[in-house]
Amino acid sequence: MDKGSMHLLVIDDDVRICSFVAAIGTALGWTVDTAGEKARFEALMHERRPDAVIVDLQLGATDGIEVLRFLADARYRGPVVLVSGFDDRVLSAAQDVGASFGLDIVQILEKPIRAAIMRGLLTELESRHSAQLPSQAQVQPGVAATVQPGFTSQDIARALDAGEMLLHFQPIVSAGSLDVVSLEALIRWQHPIIGLVQPDQFIPIAEQDDETIDKLTMWVIQKTLQLRRCFEQAGISVPIAVNISGINLHRLEFPDLVARQLVDAGFAPTALTFEMTESIATIDAHRATDILTRLRLKGFELAIDDLGTGYSSLRALRNIPFSCLKIDKSFVLEAATSRASLAIVKSIIDMGRSMRLRSVAEGVETAEIASQMTELGIDAMQGFHFTQPLPADKLIGWIADRRKMA
Ligand code: C2E
Ligand code: CA
Ligand code: CA
Repeated sequence: MDKGSMHLLVIDDDVRICSFVAAIGTALGWTVDTAGEKARFEALMHERRPDAVIVDLQLGATDGIEVLRFLADARYRGPVVLVSGFDDRVLSAAQDVGASFGLDIVQILEKPIRAAIMRGLLTELESRHSAQLPSQAQVQPGVAATVQPGFTSQDIARALDAGEMLLHFQPIVSAGSLDVVSLEALIRWQHPIIGLVQPDQFIPIAEQDDETIDKLTMWVIQKTLQLRRCFEQAGISVPIAVNISGINLHRLEFPDLVARQLVDAGFAPTALTFEMTESIATIDAHRATDILTRLRLKGFELAIDDLGTGYSSLRALRNIPFSCLKIDKSFVLEAATSRASLAIVKSIIDMGRSMRLRSVAEGVETAEIASQMTELGIDAMQGFHFTQPLPADKLIGWIADRRKMA
């Protein structure tokens, strides 16, 4: 590969970065093309195959992962350099996603980029002659949900259309100030004959059918945003957590659908957070990491739910850029009586702290558990000791009463 033919393609929506890289590249004898958005990048890719590509992970409307997918689809085999202002865990998750696409991610650069580093990188790329052959992303089949007799997924889809579903909200309280720092939305089914059905009775059935669980999740998000207006009008502007099922992560467009729903409703990504159970570890791990990383890049907070109960939770914690961990209630409830559960709770809190994740204890049923968790250094708590999940209007009243007493 002679030096004159080296072609670099840069995609970054920050024109200053584009011209900075172009100036350094040109000085080293490279031909440099720059794109501010994906369509332009694609056009340039078709014009001439680059010898190296630099991808900014945060690209306004699109995100860098979409560009990586495009490169993989276009069978680009050359070196890829990732650039981002995000912390290194988000970057390394993005690197894993890129690698799962079979791309050759040669370096990750944190912004701001220093000229000397850029120069060194381009010089090194010049001396690379061949790119690695991509490895095929492994696809694992989805895990079958437990079968529950009675309802079918069609019953649930019908109930959603008929307006039989409703949301309750449970507060999450700061361990230090005891202020309500967020709410969790929890679905219930007001069945016309049976009465109120709890989610454990029907979520596993909804999960047997991709379309039904997608429909349910989208309904929960839409309804949560609608009710968030009521909370805001009552002076409660905390983020609301929505539970998403591993099955929802089969749709690559999930982050975009959610982002659009928020924009349409006039909310910033901080309005919602997402909670995922550890079952993500058992579904197609590459795809889940791809989708969850993009949710984080779009600015959503991400919690790992029921931590401690799943099979390979630590792997999920390692691979997915979570920002919060929720300790499963079984450990929290036993912490006062079981030495082992106490040790697990302690270690999870410590691990959260060293990974800079917020920790939340679920199942705080008594004042004793609340003070024990606070002593252990938990960040926030949720449980019947504060209140059961309540309909929005009741919860607004509950928070108002609390504020009056404070
Ligand atoms: P989860 O996400 O772990 O939600 C917390 C569950 O713990 C809730 O049960 C809540 O009522 C219960 N809980 C709260 N405080 C305490 C406590 O102090 N002690 C005890 N023993 N339990 C407490 P819920 O509402 O029955 O929900 C059960 C599960 O159903 C949820 O567990 C979640 O996995 C799932 N779920 C609920 N809503 C949705 C939804 O909209 N979408 C999806 N995909 N799953 C949902
Ligand atoms: Ca949850
Ligand atoms: Ca949980």
